Amino acid sequence: MSDIDFDQVIQAIRSATNRPDGDLILHEPDLTGEESNYVQACIKSTFVSSVGEYVDRFELELAEYLGSKKAVVVSNGTAALQVALHLVGVGSNDEVLMPALTFVATANAAAHCRAIPHFVDSHPSGIGIDVEKFREYLTRIVERRGDQAFNILTGRRLAAFVPMNTFGHPVQLLELKKLCASYGIPLVEDAAESLGSTYGNRHAGTFGDIGIVSFNGNKIITTGGGGAIVTDDEELARRAKHLTTTAKKAHPWEYYHDEVAWNYRMPNLNAALGCAQLKRLEEFVQSKRTLASRYQEAFKNIQEIEFVVEPPNTRSNYWLNAIRLGDASIEVRDELLSKCIENGLHCRPCWNLLSELPMYLDCPTSDLSNAQEAVKAIVCIPSSSSLGMTDG
Ligand SMILES: *Cc1c(COP(=O)(O)O)cnc(C)c1O
Repeated sequence: MSDIDFDQVIQAIRSATNRPDGDLILHEPDLTGEESNYVQACIKSTFVSSVGEYVDRFELELAEYLGSKKAVVVSNGTAALQVALHLVGVGSNDEVLMPALTFVATANAAAHCRAIPHFVDSHPSGIGIDVEKFREYLTRIVERRGDQAFNILTGRRLAAFVPMNTFGHPVQLLELKKLCASYGIPLVEDAAESLGSTYGNRHAGTFGDIGIVSFNGNKIITTGGGGAIVTDDEELARRAKHLTTTAKKAHPWEYYHDEVAWNYRMPNLNAALGCAQLKRLEEFVQSKRTLASRYQEAFKNIQEIEFVVEPPNTRSNYWLNAIRLGDASIEVRDELLSKCIENGLHCRPCWNLLSELPMYLDCPTSDLSNAQEAVKAIVCIPSSSSLGMTDG
């Protein structure tokens, strides 16, 4: 059996959040700013659908916040990732390298491009990618032909790499960028969870050829549902806008579409919410960081539990706070989860490995021992930004 004192864990969460009783859900949005005013103004304008001033404004303000040349907003983060992969050339029978420990959308986006996910291992902490292991793995499996990289075991092209910043913590983006560049593999950053995080002096989402963020209801800011494609390449941004808006040639009346494209637009109504939320992003990051430091303090003296902290050289948005159980097993993890949930604390495990889901069972993988350990050990704890705003 484990030495973890479950009551002590519950006590630590209750004291760090200053909520001695009641339900604490994992992550709830804060819509108490201008959200209601902007949405009502949008309704009044009647421009609630696919075009409108909030869409244009949200794209400009998001790009400005991130320090990126362009942002194209779309219907959700999965669609953003699918289009991003398509734009860097991912297609039929290509392989897309990605962590096995990520949300299912990362793999689905590749599959929607008719490509095959190729899963690699996590950092020993369970957060992000094990860069050295990845480097060593590539040395063994990559054959370079011209300026492209191929998997010598399957013969398929390695058409992109998608690092993911787990729970908001940026991975070693510069090292990964260099590594991919040395193989000619495009890098598409899945920054769905890490809007507001930085690595060095740059924002997460801006390191790849293209990056994506998500505005789903549980993310750090929300548009109800939504996502964005972020890039410094104006031509890629123009292509992203064209392809996500039915590829219609601008004209006062003609319906002329010049290629097969998607309707992945973000409605103006959702963008109105986005403009209001973006104004509060820094405030949310600050309060999440405050909550994280309270958690860190509260867990300091608990045997067998380690609070997950931001990696060196990063400022994490601490989208989800997480703890790591020492000497873990699925049984201990699940016992802790059920004790917490019984107490009203809505904790969650991290994801099942994507390589173990039925549709991805046959996909290529590297050794995944770190990721397998992380699944047993990681538990996410209540992380709403409002919890960091309450005074002690
Ligand atoms: C949320 C998320 C996505 C997808 O975003 P949606 O807006 O829900 O489609 C992609 N990747 C990761 C890692 C995510 O957490």
